[in-house]
Amino acid sequence: MKKVVFLFVALATLMGCSRKPAQPEAEAEEDFEYMVDRFYDLAILRYRVPDFESLTVEQKALVYYLSEAALWGRDILYDQNGAYNLRIRRTLEALYSRKPEAASQTSEWEAFERYLKRVWFSNGIHHHYAEDKFLPEFSQEWFVEACREAGVEYDEAILPVMFDPAVMPKKVCQDAGKDLVLNSACNYYEGVTQAEAEAWYAAHRDTSDEPLWIGLNSKLVKDGNGNIVERVFKAEGDGLYREALQHVVENLEKAKAYAENDKQRKVIELLIEYNKTGNLKTFNDYAIAWVQDLDSRVDFINGFTEVYGDPLGITGAWESMVNFKNVAATERTRILSANAQWFEDNSPTDKRYKKPECRGISAKVITAAVLAGDCYPATPIGINLPNANWIRKNYGSKSVTIENLTEAYYQASQGDGFNEEFMLSDTERELAKKYGGLMSDVHVDLHECLGHGSGQLLPGVSKDNLKEHGSTLEEARADLFSLYYMADAKLVELGIVPDEEAYKSQYYQQLMNGAMTQLVRVEPGKNIEESHMRDRALIANWVLAHADSVSPEAEIIVENNKHYLRINDYEGVRRLFGELLAIVQEVVSTGDYARACELVETYAVKVDRDLHRELLARYQPLGIAPYKGFVNPVYKPQFDENGRITDVLIDYTEGYVEQHLRYSRDYSPLPDVN
Ligand code: ZN
Repeated sequence: MKKVVFLFVALATLMGCSRKPAQPEAEAEEDFEYMVDRFYDLAILRYRVPDFESLTVEQKALVYYLSEAALWGRDILYDQNGAYNLRIRRTLEALYSRKPEAASQTSEWEAFERYLKRVWFSNGIHHHYAEDKFLPEFSQEWFVEACREAGVEYDEAILPVMFDPAVMPKKVCQDAGKDLVLNSACNYYEGVTQAEAEAWYAAHRDTSDEPLWIGLNSKLVKDGNGNIVERVFKAEGDGLYREALQHVVENLEKAKAYAENDKQRKVIELLIEYNKTGNLKTFNDYAIAWVQDLDSRVDFINGFTEVYGDPLGITGAWESMVNFKNVAATERTRILSANAQWFEDNSPTDKRYKKPECRGISAKVITAAVLAGDCYPATPIGINLPNANWIRKNYGSKSVTIENLTEAYYQASQGDGFNEEFMLSDTERELAKKYGGLMSDVHVDLHECLGHGSGQLLPGVSKDNLKEHGSTLEEARADLFSLYYMADAKLVELGIVPDEEAYKSQYYQQLMNGAMTQLVRVEPGKNIEESHMRDRALIANWVLAHADSVSPEAEIIVENNKHYLRINDYEGVRRLFGELLAIVQEVVSTGDYARACELVETYAVKVDRDLHRELLARYQPLGIAPYKGFVNPVYKPQFDENGRITDVLIDYTEGYVEQHLRYSRDYSPLPDVN
């Protein structure tokens, strides 16, 4: 045991220890308030930036200027999401800041405040996820009167846009048969129909081997003669969004001075050039340079990237995320991959289904330092870029997980009443508190780095043999591989988990979720459809069905008319996971469709209606927000007399409202109409 502890401590020290053992950090964690605000179906969280202090002064300065370059793009996304968004946001902020005496005494004021918070969350007036327009819960009359009282002047054109449900109802229209461009409120086309836009793109498409992504950074509009012209997003000349992009460029220039190495400097140089000129060949060069910059600690995205906001899927929404490598967590995935063959050789599957030569996948784990544009306040927890397939194929791609954000989600969920309602006792809740965050990361690592890559198909068998059940079985296989091994002494020996108790938190969590609590995401009367959910149900229900009838390893019990999971024998549960892993591997390796059907239909699809009703009735009163977003930390550079940065301090105290008002005051260069 002593050796084990030493190994873990040694590893943690060596790696700078951002993925710390659960115990020693527990106290410090408690001081950090993850939950910031809650309104509508949204929760706002704070995230920590662990290990920021371990960066060199140059790296901190780099993060600082890249984060400035990130914040300067904020207005762009508002305008892309809708032509009236900047006018609306500014009017709302002016009214909010002036807080007129009479209007602020009315009950509508609170609804107004909520509406403004939601506009900030969505970077506009449409739901960030559902895409439809949300209507104020105060009347137009009240709003007009409040603005009059406060002396806030505004463009009257915003009134129907805000209040009339028939005006701009959807940000992105996906209804087949409708003109998707004309019926979308987003601002990528002006006076152009879907047919005209498609014809224009078809005529300008680049069919070369290394194609330019025509339309990625432009808006299509009609000129005075009715011809379609492209307004390119660029800092130079009459470029659209030039007022913001000039500030982005200015801060990228400052960042360049602190680049860690020549490769990274080249990346920043190309991005500056692209932002200035809008030249898509330069963008390709930049994307290729970026994907090849693998050694720098600090990394970032900044620009027009994801295309979900454009009904035709061509133009990129502006986003930025600055991050740096989480060395300890990345090392964790490297260690697992380096030992992939050991895990393969020792798994409980039949020898015929094992890979003779097994290589794991080493994943890069990052720490987000600032989120902006389309990554803020709602954000992805993983990134996989670039989007151009030919660059991915010829030069590779970067795929990362963002551990400090998943950690924030996890920590914030600890106080939301969920575990109190659904876990059996304080014993399970304590396990979750102590090990839950770490073990859910370890589970993802084992699943991704080892699980999917393990095992082999028999000759002549293809993945398609299992048809519609293929992905459920594949996910179950990866999950079981992970669950089986997280309880193995090997993980303690490798320093991946701190002790031989840690896995229990994940066992309880997985069985509770698979057999019960994930059903709160299923609508009443429906079956389980999504393949990850089916995978979890299959595992949990199979284990419960195969538990010993006299002294069950795990069981569902009823207390005070409520159902709970009880695990009586964690080792025994591990044995059952191993048995099921052997079965699932055999089904996959032999392509046994009939057996796949039997497994899925018996354990993974059906919902016990009474249990479902009970779970929903217990879940709904908790009022847990389905969508979450973040506030950023504030970076405060310290300068010497020559204007060089000597340190960058990090401050986590800024609130949601303060942050948005500050961003709107300090980083809002675009005119109302662009
Ligand atoms: Zn998977």
